[in-house]
Amino acid sequence: MTHLESLDTFFTEKRNDHLDQLKDFLRIPSISALSDHKADMQKAAEWLKDSFEKAGLENVSIEPTDGHPVVYGDWMHAEGKPTLLIYGHYDVQPVDPLHLWESGPFEPEVRDNKLYARGASDDKGQVFMHVKAVEALMHENGGQLPINVKFIIEGEEEVGSPNLEKYIEENKEKLAADIIVISDTGMYGPGKPAICYGLRGLAGVQIDVRGAKSDLHSGIYGGGVQNPIHAISEILASFHDQEGTIAVDGFYEDVRPLAEEEREAYAALNFDEAALKEEIGVPELFGEKGYSYLERTWTRPTLEVNGVFGGFSGEGIKTVLPSEAGAKITCRLVPDQDPEDIVAKLKAHIEKHKPAGVTVEVSEFDKGKPFITPFDHPAIQAAGRSYEKVYNVPTAYTRMGGSIPIVAAFDEILGLPVVLMGFGLSSENFHAPNEHFHLENFDKGLRVIGDYYYELAELPVDELKK
Ligand SMILES: [Zn+2]
Repeated sequence: MTHLESLDTFFTEKRNDHLDQLKDFLRIPSISALSDHKADMQKAAEWLKDSFEKAGLENVSIEPTDGHPVVYGDWMHAEGKPTLLIYGHYDVQPVDPLHLWESGPFEPEVRDNKLYARGASDDKGQVFMHVKAVEALMHENGGQLPINVKFIIEGEEEVGSPNLEKYIEENKEKLAADIIVISDTGMYGPGKPAICYGLRGLAGVQIDVRGAKSDLHSGIYGGGVQNPIHAISEILASFHDQEGTIAVDGFYEDVRPLAEEEREAYAALNFDEAALKEEIGVPELFGEKGYSYLERTWTRPTLEVNGVFGGFSGEGIKTVLPSEAGAKITCRLVPDQDPEDIVAKLKAHIEKHKPAGVTVEVSEFDKGKPFITPFDHPAIQAAGRSYEKVYNVPTAYTRMGGSIPIVAAFDEILGLPVVLMGFGLSSENFHAPNEHFHLENFDKGLRVIGDYYYELAELPVDELKK
């Protein structure tokens, strides 16, 4: 019997039991944002701790942080084999508006082979799958695993993980591993497994332009002093050329070129640009020449003006010469751009294009680094193989235009390759009423994860370095 066949037997036999267990977990209203639910957070952590122990994990503990605790557990007896760190979260989003739920958010119910409950997909269901995969492998291998595993499941993801970085910093040794896998993202579409191996970073500034001490009458002063709105417009217009390429000196300098295999992988997705145009209601897609829409949004950096303010915008006219104007801009960054460096380049650009007759102040927003695990990394490719064996279709290799701050934190602090192995679907209403999880992906996901642990066991540890 192959590994996959024996996993299949195990999960088929246990399916009802597993669903009942997951429902128990989902009944705990562990809403991290609401202080009324503090006891529930503890209860969910205890529930996980128990399930870790039952699965055969060791050193299981509920670790306090300044907020909700982290649940930790490991199994470290596969000598010479890779160590996998598994991250997820047991907290969930608030549930209002409650009246839009067809069944109670904490009364899990299966309808049409979908499990409805808050947290079903994001992320209790996916965390549960990793625990059950461990249990299955222990069962198959007489209480042993083919690899070493460490679980770190937090309770504050839905409120921005305010204490996680500190926890990782303080527990660097304990969390030492070769790879991190996170199952908290989605598939490319129904029946289409995806591995997201890159995320964009973020850097932003606010520009404040000031002219006269107060607003002036345009009949008296107009033509005699600089208009701050004209000045900010000039600065904003200087950021791009006509074709959408960013004109800030050195902006693209550190951008890692797109590999031919990556371009091929994205092209294979047959992304429908015409349908997108229709869906979002634009006459034409627009952006940097020489790149497809997916390439531009996943692998190229951007500079967007998010807002412009100043002057009079009320009803009718007001002959005013405003005293100030401003704009907020953010850049999405890609490997290997550094947010600090980009902010410095933005400042230099603004200084250079500053019109006469005004003062210009630039202030910085929070920054985030971009992240990538190389496309050809063995842990990424192994994950792709496991998906393909179970779903029987090619795995989509994707990146995401957005950011997941905890991924950047793991990448930065532990310096490990991150594998984002998600089983959710974007249609599953996470963060909204009627959140659900397609049980097809629950069933297949269990097998993929189990198989992945076996795949990882075949990889030489020294080839896993990032
Ligand atoms: Zn999540």
